[in-house]
Amino acid sequence: MPASASLPIATLRRRVLSLVSPDALLPVTCVLGLVVVLSIWAFYFDRAEQEKTVARQAAITSSENIVLIVATNLEEVLGRATLYARIAASEGNASQPTAFHLNPQLVGDSAYVRAAVFDAAGALLYSSANHDREPELQQLVARAGDSTPDAPRMTIGRPAASGKYPWRLPVLVRLDGDRGYYGAMVDLGYFLGSYRNVDLGPEGRIEIVRQDGAPLALMQGGILVPGREMATAPASGAIVAREVLADIPIRVTVMQDPAVVLGRLDAQHEAYFLRAGGYSLLVLVITLGIAAGLWQQQRLHSAVAVSEQEKQRLIAQLEQEKSRALALASQDHLTGLANRRMFQEMASAELKRARRSRNLYALLFFDLDRFKVINDTLGHGVGDQLLKAVAARLRGAVREYDLVARLGGDEFVVLLSEVPSEDFVAQLAGKLVQGLSAVYPNLDGHDVETSPSVGIALYPRDGQQLDALLLHADQAMYSVKARGRGFFSFYDASLNASSALHSELAARFRTAIQDGEFCLHFQPKLTLDSLQIVGLEALVRWRHPEHGLIFPGDFIPLAEEQDFIAPLGRWIIDAVCRQLAQWRADGVPLVPVAINVSARQLRDERLLDDFTGALARCGVAPGLIEIELTESSLIEDAELAQRNLDALAGAGIRMALDDFGTGFSGLSRLKQFPIHTVKIDRSFIRDIRNDTNDAVIVASTISLAHNLGLTVVAEGVETKDQLVHLKAAGCDQVQGFYLQRPCAAAQIAPLLHKRFISFQPT
Ligand code: C2E
Ligand code: MG
Ligand code: MG
Repeated sequence: MPASASLPIATLRRRVLSLVSPDALLPVTCVLGLVVVLSIWAFYFDRAEQEKTVARQAAITSSENIVLIVATNLEEVLGRATLYARIAASEGNASQPTAFHLNPQLVGDSAYVRAAVFDAAGALLYSSANHDREPELQQLVARAGDSTPDAPRMTIGRPAASGKYPWRLPVLVRLDGDRGYYGAMVDLGYFLGSYRNVDLGPEGRIEIVRQDGAPLALMQGGILVPGREMATAPASGAIVAREVLADIPIRVTVMQDPAVVLGRLDAQHEAYFLRAGGYSLLVLVITLGIAAGLWQQQRLHSAVAVSEQEKQRLIAQLEQEKSRALALASQDHLTGLANRRMFQEMASAELKRARRSRNLYALLFFDLDRFKVINDTLGHGVGDQLLKAVAARLRGAVREYDLVARLGGDEFVVLLSEVPSEDFVAQLAGKLVQGLSAVYPNLDGHDVETSPSVGIALYPRDGQQLDALLLHADQAMYSVKARGRGFFSFYDASLNASSALHSELAARFRTAIQDGEFCLHFQPKLTLDSLQIVGLEALVRWRHPEHGLIFPGDFIPLAEEQDFIAPLGRWIIDAVCRQLAQWRADGVPLVPVAINVSARQLRDERLLDDFTGALARCGVAPGLIEIELTESSLIEDAELAQRNLDALAGAGIRMALDDFGTGFSGLSRLKQFPIHTVKIDRSFIRDIRNDTNDAVIVASTISLAHNLGLTVVAEGVETKDQLVHLKAAGCDQVQGFYLQRPCAAAQIAPLLHKRFISFQPT
């Protein structure tokens, strides 16, 4: 099975790799070195021992050879006595002439010294030395006579125990037919002398011993020793070879001293020893060198590891300190909210995201009313507790991902992300104002009351950078403070609404016209091909002595309800014509000005007269006036509206359909009205980039309108992206804060001179 087969291999691999690791290398090297040294010595001893065995074997073999040679020689020398005995027997009773063959001197046999012949009774018959007696031989004859007939024919005597001839060995041979004896003295010294040059070492010896153990002769270290002086047997362990002579009761022994045999190897073994020692030393030195290197390396490694650890620890410590310092530096120590720095960082990042998501964001700027008074009268301790409580209420009232920060003092900001609508912001702001205005009970025993003034800037309408939004929210907050406290206000005041305000406004309408509280702002329209100003839209404002600038959203519906729209409309038509006349008088290049006409006005019989009258009074051409109508105003009482419109068109006034897309109609219904232009409502423009539906509606509206020969204007262009998209979609004209906010006539004149608009930075 592959799994189980691969397991041991993997384990083996891991083991091998772990041996190769630098930590394991040092002991491995030492062990290897030791093994090599031991091997060298084992080899040395093995070889020496082998050589000794071989040498010993060779010595044994040579001893055996030598003993064989000596025995064979001795056998031959002594064997000659048998030959002589046969001669003696064949000669019968030895007489002088035949004795010639028996005399060793005459025959030239140097090993034999004397010869004699005895009869069966033991009487001397012949002596080569002419002796009367042969005592050594006669002793042998006496003993031979005692012996049994089947005893060996040859009897060996012993050399004389004293006297001059310790080498002379008496030898007796019985003659055939028991007729007598042949005896001879054999010179063993002469015999052994011929082996003087055989090197058996100083203790090595050749021994000739009679079968019964009597020593006969010995040669040791080249020196001949007679049998009678022979010392004890050599020490055990000697190399011994023995040979017993055939038919002669003598044995020969050769001994070699092992010390001598092995001693010859000594020099060689000494050389081996020195070499092994040298190699061992070399291996030791190399091993030690490698080990020292490894040890050094290991020390370096561990030093590096230690310093690396130390470094990591320091880095971790630094990082900890840094994040603590950052937390300290980015948090408001009192409330725990983000501080200004942190807020700027996070809000900028959030706005970067906003640019991609194209959602609506709102920046709320809070300032606590009467905070200074509270601080001064109740003490800083209470002030601090109040700030904490406000922070807690703010944090609790918004969503988790909305940013809340304290900028310093009693100033707080909230950045609301991805809000669904302006209404949502207004509602939340209202709730926050209410929530923060509730009593703060028991702050150091005091029940404290305060209320916030809140300024709101919306992204992207009121600014696309954080600084601009902060500035505008701050300005809006100041406008709240100026008007009274405990309220919120949008920077774009058209978003403010208040029913209380409404009733107050309604009551003031009539006097407002007389007191000249209404004024006009103008917003340019630009062609998309050349980005030139090709028209203006007049937008009415109420400069209220108490509430500041009030926007038409807050009073036009009211004016319609209160039947005040006709006189107001009349004032507006008049004011536009006068403004055109004024610009003309000032030499300002003129472009058509659009006037918004509400549904109620359209059903006013006097509308045509109002226009023509004003145009005539100011001497303005009707082509410089355009009317903007809402879709709804075309449905109610369509007949009257149709009549009025036809009359106005007949007077040379052009007409545009405002807020297109919010009402009933398909474009086809427009054919019955004298409309030249459609203005696509800004709600479609806002999401044009990320809402595909809106993009489709805008694109199809543009192409349909073009088919009907209508000019298309896009309202509420707030960003560059929207502008680019509209251009790509083929839109004719654009209008919006991105190009120019509505502003007073005095600011418009220079723009008309230039014709071009210098854009806000994105
Ligand atoms: P409208 O005719 O659609 O006018 C355009 C409105 O859009 C203006 O608000 C203008 O300030 C605002 N606007 C222009 N560019 C942008 C932009 O980029 N973003 C956003 N969010 N808004 C933009 P305003 O002046 O508050 O007028 C509101 C409405 O009140 C007008 O809508 C119009 O229906 C009515 N109105 C204004 N002046 C008159 C007037 O003289 N007579 C009558 N009957 N109605 C008027
Ligand atoms: Mg309009
Ligand atoms: Mg509009």
